[in-house]
Amino acid sequence: MADVAQQNLSALAGEVHKRLKLVFGEPAWRRAHTPLDELISTILSQNTNDRNRDIAFDRLRKRLPNWEAVRDADVGQVVDAIRIAGLANQKGARIQEILRQITAERGNLDLSFLCTLSTDEARSWLLRFKGVGLKTAAIVLLFSLDKPAFPVDTHIYRVSGRVGLRPADMRVEEAHHHLEGLFNPHDYGVVHLNLIRLGREICHARKPDCDHCPLCDICNFAHANMVECNQNPLEEPAKGFSRG
Ligand code: SF4
Repeated sequence: MADVAQQNLSALAGEVHKRLKLVFGEPAWRRAHTPLDELISTILSQNTNDRNRDIAFDRLRKRLPNWEAVRDADVGQVVDAIRIAGLANQKGARIQEILRQITAERGNLDLSFLCTLSTDEARSWLLRFKGVGLKTAAIVLLFSLDKPAFPVDTHIYRVSGRVGLRPADMRVEEAHHHLEGLFNPHDYGVVHLNLIRLGREICHARKPDCDHCPLCDICNFAHANMVECNQNPLEEPAKGFSRG
């Protein structure tokens, strides 16, 4: 029974990916970063939007031209540069602490050695730093090290629960591993970005726009709320899985 349920979930995941790709295409990651740039950028992104994250990152790099300078600067300088990203006191101190820890351990600030580790080893290495959780680690692994990890942010967690890709009571920490098992590793980046877009534009936290959602007829939430689905980007009804 467990295998059948897993097959149904995998089929549903495949259908979700196919539909979102039809509607949103295959988006690219924001910009290519070194692993350390990606790590700092992702820490800056916590609890803020993409625009403010990028402004904070650029200001930091403009005022303090390399990560050694950020590490050794007065914390007030760092906090001031990243203020627009919010939680600046906390983020500034954490970024400096991480840079100091990396230097103490590695003798420099080059994280390219992570490429030589397995995904699990690299993930464990990143998770030791305060302020680095599963999502941040997975973003660094996936988008700067090209390793198979699936980052789950608040939008992906919400959408995956509503659609029925995960048990409703599954914790976000467990959802990372669970969703990794459902999608093809080759598709992680596109699925990640498209699920976030769906969450931002259609599957809003308070009022999801189900009747205009490309997943409407395969979504547990829409089914439970007896939504009349208006839009299906596919000509054929979805096959290969059942909602139950
Ligand atoms: S049908 Fe509604 S609840 Fe389901 S994914 Fe779409 S917007 Fe979200």
